[in-house]
Amino acid sequence: LRDEVGRMERLSLVGQMAASITHEIRNPMAVIRGFVQLMQERSPENQREYYHIVMEELDRANGIINDFLSLAQNRIVDKEKSSLNAIINELAPLLWADANLRGQSVELELEPSLASFDMNAKEIKQLILNLARNAMEAMGDKGLLVIRTKQIDNVIELQVSDTGCGIPQEQLDHLFEPFYTTKTSGTGLGLALCLSIVEQHLGKIEVTSKEDVGTTFVVTFTVT
Ligand code: ADP
Ligand code: MG
Repeated sequence: LRDEVGRMERLSLVGQMAASITHEIRNPMAVIRGFVQLMQERSPENQREYYHIVMEELDRANGIINDFLSLAQNRIVDKEKSSLNAIINELAPLLWADANLRGQSVELELEPSLASFDMNAKEIKQLILNLARNAMEAMGDKGLLVIRTKQIDNVIELQVSDTGCGIPQEQLDHLFEPFYTTKTSGTGLGLALCLSIVEQHLGKIEVTSKEDVGTTFVVTFTVT
């Protein structure tokens, strides 16, 4: 019986996912269709502007498909010894540019003698980026995003803190579920992917939050 229940749950989850992804992909499709139609009717000057919108929407659709696939696949994750600080420093210019546009600031507090460990750099980059994006989206202008690294014995800690809207208690349990979102144009795949990446690295992810004060995501990895 337990197997049967498990199978039903999985099936309905697949059904739920299919419904959500269909919905998510249809939005950009509709926008693209509308603008391609307009491009045919309008002058070349207008076409340039529409071209950018169409490209952005195509990228968005592609992003959704990529996130969904990385979640759904039993992906093989190659790992090699890398430095978490180096990855954060690589991302920094991108984060600063993004924050700048929003009138926010970003601070890094990196433990200088952090140990390297086996990781898939591409996925860890994605993890940090997803957490940082959420942080920025939760803050208004003058918000402060802090990315911190620490090490206590053989445990490495990555903290992503924001001074944003915070998360109500009743939402905390749902954050990591695929397609859970409170945003009008969110996909709800960001944190689900973060959890999957952390699990691939045998780490843990935790969140503490206070409404109207801010949120901190803490990821811990064990170095062997
Ligand atoms: P999305 O960003 O597309 O909504 P995510 O999986 O990245 O999907 O996040 C799920 C939800 O978790 C968000 O819609 C938001 O409600 C909440 N959330 C995540 N990070 C934060 C944060 N730093 N501050 C406040 N809420 C957050
Ligand atoms: Mg997100």
